[in-house]
Amino acid sequence: MLQQSPALLVGGVFLLSLLVGSFLNVVIHRLPIMLDRLWRAQAEEMLAEAAPGSAAPPAVRDRPKATATPYNLATPRSACPHCGAPIRAHQNVPVLSWLLLGGKCANCRARISPRYPLVELGTAVLSAAVVWRFGWHWQAVAALFVTWALVALTVIDLDHQILPDSITLPLLWLGLLASLAWSSGLAPPIPTDPQSAILGAVAGYLSLWSVYWAFRLLTGKEGMGYGDFKLFGALGAWLGWQMLPLVLLLSAFAGAVVGIALIAVRGRDRNIPIPFGPYLAAAGWIAMMWGPQIVGGYLSLAGLDR
Ligand SMILES: [Zn+2]
Repeated sequence: MLQQSPALLVGGVFLLSLLVGSFLNVVIHRLPIMLDRLWRAQAEEMLAEAAPGSAAPPAVRDRPKATATPYNLATPRSACPHCGAPIRAHQNVPVLSWLLLGGKCANCRARISPRYPLVELGTAVLSAAVVWRFGWHWQAVAALFVTWALVALTVIDLDHQILPDSITLPLLWLGLLASLAWSSGLAPPIPTDPQSAILGAVAGYLSLWSVYWAFRLLTGKEGMGYGDFKLFGALGAWLGWQMLPLVLLLSAFAGAVVGIALIAVRGRDRNIPIPFGPYLAAAGWIAMMWGPQIVGGYLSLAGLDR
């Protein structure tokens, strides 16, 4: 039935993706905290090793262990950050609950950020666009997975200026694996053929790595992070090396427009880093959806398609 009716398919995926967006909110909020705890625990361990026994600095010895209480994507249950009241199932309906509660906690009436329903809605809209583009086909599942990973990476990078390895690296490996399922009958560009995927992963990583080191040697500043290289490599693995120039062009263009706008509006200090990940993610998503058409359109405009 879903195969026969595109509207039903798009609508169904829209509704289901609201739930996925709700889960992405949890990942976006908790993953950076989990990483922070992990890094703290490791740092404390190293400090304790450096100064064995009672010689450990008291600040390290007396602080409660960062890993004492379990904290992961499932535990503890979601609660209001202000009053700690647990969020009940009927208060956890994507977008609707937020609207019905007027953007406030049901218990203490503290304001709840519109960020949560926006992430849910954004995930649903992007997911609906993906199935509208790829239709009833496993390619759509692959594109959905990439879309969800890009949403999580975008918001985490905006919040914390990090692109966690626990998202970028699986995305890269899965892109390489998916290329094994490529066949000439599939609509480009996702997944791509294995050769393009391997070259894409390597070229994606190394190109930004080279830019990073050139920029660093010339100016002594860090223009971007290693997470950006991994994300670009992952996009290369999924879309093939052929899409990388387009992704870079789109993200540099978007980055320049937003950057100049920020400097113009807020007089932003040019030395404050603007995360590059969100631009890469947005550009990668556009290339996944319409990359071949954009490149084809450009080539025919330039008269190079003959
Ligand atoms: Zn509350």
